[in-house]
Formats: sequence, structure tokens, C-alpha cells
Amino acid sequence: MTGENMAKPQSGGKAKLRRTQKFTEVQETLQKEGAAIFVDKQGTENLYIDFPYHVNYLHSYAQDTPFFLGLAEGRLRGTRCESCQYTYATPRTYCQFCGGPAGWVDLPLKGKVHSWTTCHYGSEAFLKETPYNLVLVEFEGVNSILLSRLKACTEEQIYVGMPLVAKFASKPKYLITDVWFEPAPGAI
Ligand SMILES: [Zn+2]
Repeated sequence: MTGENMAKPQSGGKAKLRRTQKFTEVQETLQKEGAAIFVDKQGTENLYIDFPYHVNYLHSYAQDTPFFLGLAEGRLRGTRCESCQYTYATPRTYCQFCGGPAGWVDLPLKGKVHSWTTCHYGSEAFLKETPYNLVLVEFEGVNSILLSRLKACTEEQIYVGMPLVAKFASKPKYLITDVWFEPAPGAI
């Protein structure tokens, strides 16, 4: 490339990018044309490009492995401290109170709503399902609570103490979304 080519500004060239102050229009344009310019409040032009980025990530669950294998078997596994017996719905290898080692235990497949929230925005995996409900589940005999999805009910039907049952994906993907909760029969 010669210096002349590099320095020459494009005038009347092919690059006629849409300029907008609305980010929603940037997103629309990216889908159609692959590039757009967002003009911010200071008048600065920011070039955006559509740049799909794929990574095959070899993720190790390491010491959490039994939890995810359990989901594939329809089991919900927590851990219990071998010293003080504190029982974790979200597994921990070591007790956060006494530091003792914790072993795997099966949690009940029934619980109740401790608290919940409705998400009107989510990460890419959940965007199509918004709004969706997240729940903190209490289990009898378990000292901590578990964050999960709550399906098969609307936001208006949920209440603190609502009995829940765990549901498992028939084809496990070994992800946390392999488990979710639904109202127990007669709960709503
Ligand atoms: Zn302990």
C-alpha cells in the first residue's frame, strides 16, 4: 500500500454508514449491514461492527462435578459440613463457618419459596423467555437456600412459602438450567 492510498480520505466511496444517536437503531443496522456509527452526546462518532465471536470453552466443573452429574440423574445435591453439620443447598467443599470438610448429600426435591424476583431482561440465553422468574428455594433440614428458575406460574401467582417441586431436563446439558422449580400440585 502506498502512502498516497493510505492518506487519501474516502469521498463518495462505498462506506455510507448510518449515523444515529439511538442505540436501538445501531443494533438494527448492525443486523442488516454489519456496521453503524453511534453519535454520542458529545457528538463523537463511535464505529460499531457486528463481530460474531465463537469460542469452544473446555470448562471443568472440578469439585462441583457431582452436583451436575446429580442433575442428570434427577438428584439435587448439596453438601453437609462433617464437623458442625451445617447443610448447604448450594454446595461448598469446605464449611464457611468452621472450615471443616463438607460431604455430598441429597437435598429434598420439594421446597418452598423463600423469595423471588421477576427478570425483564436477561443474558442472551434467557432473552427469549423474558420476563422470567428467579426463586430462592428453602428446603427442610437445609440451612442455606438455592437460586433457581421458577416456571409454570406467573409473577402474580407467586407467594412466600409457596410449595415447590424440582424439575429436571429430560436431556441434560450439564448446566445449571438442567434444574428448575414449579409450583407443587395445588399450590396455586
Ligand atoms: Zn462447619
